[in-house]
Amino acid sequence: MESASGVKFEAELDREFAHWATTVPGGENIRECIQCGACSGACPMSGYMDYTPRRIIALVREGFKEEVLSSRTIWLCASCYACAVECPQGINITDFMYALKERAIKEGRYPKGFPTPIYAQEFAKLVRARGRSTESLLVIRANLRLNPLKLLKFAPLGLKLLLRGRMRPSPRPEQVRDRAGVRAMLAASGGPKARHEHER
Ligand code: SF4
Ligand code: SF4
Repeated sequence: MESASGVKFEAELDREFAHWATTVPGGENIRECIQCGACSGACPMSGYMDYTPRRIIALVREGFKEEVLSSRTIWLCASCYACAVECPQGINITDFMYALKERAIKEGRYPKGFPTPIYAQEFAKLVRARGRSTESLLVIRANLRLNPLKLLKFAPLGLKLLLRGRMRPSPRPEQVRDRAGVRAMLAASGGPKARHEHER
């Protein structure tokens, strides 16, 4: 909720979210952030983000839940750990980004039509069901959700890959034998369940 002027009032900020952030991996010491910007300077993706890593930390601490969870930033993070290495306060921003992604998916607040969260969810579903991902199936499933017409655009590329032996036409998607074991491992890791899960 935002006021008509675009300014947020204190009462509109989500204090529970700000507190939750300090309890997840990477978020333990975000209160120690000195807003130096070293993370943003080191981040190879910050030029493409709507909020730089430094700003994400600032927004989270104040309770700007909607802005953070619906931002593209958390999905553009390439998990390179450059920010974590540079941070003088030892804040593990990379792990923190994962926690934000997980919460965004749980609450269905990720940017709609943005491919990364959809791919992440479909990847996780495949791994959960089959113990591994099959790229061709992943592309098909993700694009059926994103934009089915786009699949037609991929047809010539798919044909080329098939002809050059880079993609195998498989009558059945690949799967591991011990799928129950994989599911047990996922459950033991405490990862998000079923339809809300995503890969790290
Ligand atoms: S480098 Fe660390 S202390 Fe500096 S702005 Fe980023 S998170 Fe905050
Ligand atoms: S881990 Fe993510 S936020 Fe950190 S520098 Fe790499 S891309 Fe940027």
